[in-house]
Amino acid sequence: MSDMMKGQCFCGNVRFSFPKKNMQGAVACHCRDCQQMHGNYNAMAAVDRDALVIESSETLRWFDSSEKARRGFCSHCGGRLFKDNLCSPKMMVSMGTIDPPTGLRIVRNIWTESKGDWYEIPPA
Ligand SMILES: [Zn+2]
Ligand SMILES: [Zn+2]
Repeated sequence: MSDMMKGQCFCGNVRFSFPKKNMQGAVACHCRDCQQMHGNYNAMAAVDRDALVIESSETLRWFDSSEKARRGFCSHCGGRLFKDNLCSPKMMVSMGTIDPPTGLRIVRNIWTESKGDWYEIPPA
């Protein structure tokens, strides 16, 4: 039980879990796509797609945000849970949807050249 991490969207219609082991920490993405979708930079944890269990997905919808990635969100509450990099075996899971405490830290910032001008890059 405790070797699994769990999470959900705001309304709880989409729930997921994945194994805690081998988690590397969070990547903070400052690209414009994330800013416009999340209203901010988005911190995400990379999870092996094969190991991610989506337990309740009736309201889960996918939006193709580019040719390389699609975003998973809850069509009921609008919570944005996943970034699925189609050319990678990893699924990016939005940190804020993971039940705390996560025990993880931001370990890397990416797309910092397109970050918003209204905040500082978080320490990594
Ligand atoms: Zn929801
Ligand atoms: Zn991004």
